[in-house]
Amino acid sequence: MPKIALSAGHHSLTGGNRTEIELVGPITKALAKHCRDQGFDVRVVTPEDGMGIFRGGLRQVAQTVVDWAHEGWNADVFLEVHAEDNGRGDAGRGCFTIFPDAGSDTDAIVRDTLGPMISHALRNATDIPLRGTGVLSERKTHVFQDLHARLGVFEVTSKLRVHCRRMIVEVGAYSSPKDLRIMQQENFADQAGQAICGALSEFFGQPEPDLRWYRVLVEVARTREGPGTQFRDALQGEARLHRDDVFAVDEVVIGELISGNPQWAHRADQLGFVSMTLLEEDA
Ligand SMILES: [Zn+2]
Repeated sequence: MPKIALSAGHHSLTGGNRTEIELVGPITKALAKHCRDQGFDVRVVTPEDGMGIFRGGLRQVAQTVVDWAHEGWNADVFLEVHAEDNGRGDAGRGCFTIFPDAGSDTDAIVRDTLGPMISHALRNATDIPLRGTGVLSERKTHVFQDLHARLGVFEVTSKLRVHCRRMIVEVGAYSSPKDLRIMQQENFADQAGQAICGALSEFFGQPEPDLRWYRVLVEVARTREGPGTQFRDALQGEARLHRDDVFAVDEVVIGELISGNPQWAHRADQLGFVSMTLLEEDA
């Protein structure tokens, strides 16, 4: 059964806005309950299934999920529940899911599949509209654009990126009077929790698409030196891949398979240029 790690945004000593803290606790608790009813293996970092306050900062909340992995409990999902203040009143309504996309730490599965599923489920179950497409890049957040920092929950958990789908779900904007009125309705927390859980169930209920084994050669240049890049290191490894899956040979090299395309994606990241070559496919 999938392992689901949850936390209620700002239910830590880092604090946050009181309205948001009051909104996200009951949603997290309802989400945990619905997920357990589905048979998921659920742990909530923030005490009392999200109603209590974690005795540490937001980075320590995320570190707890990393510690669980070291102890052998590898979360398949780490989802933190938030509500947003964008200061735009009813012009800034809506729910969306934030996915990591800083350099090599990009989650294309949350970006393209699970994130939209969650946002659409929230929109369909409540009167909160979608914000934009329903997903937001970490790079487009205020923290990244204005403060030039990664979101702590993503940075701290980046080691889990291959196995764990990490996301922040903004259930609505409390800076919008319309969204706030909806989110303060008595049944909202349960509706939202059930909706997010439904999307997770659907995601994990999907049959494994096209699982195949590939052997890959990965060449890594630590520095990029213009045309005719010089490769300083060559690594080789094996990985089990789905279509569209995120691929990693080790902690350093990560890339994406372009679905339906025999070529490997080439991409630059903070560590250097990654070139991957498909050598063979085992039947
Ligand atoms: Zn928040």
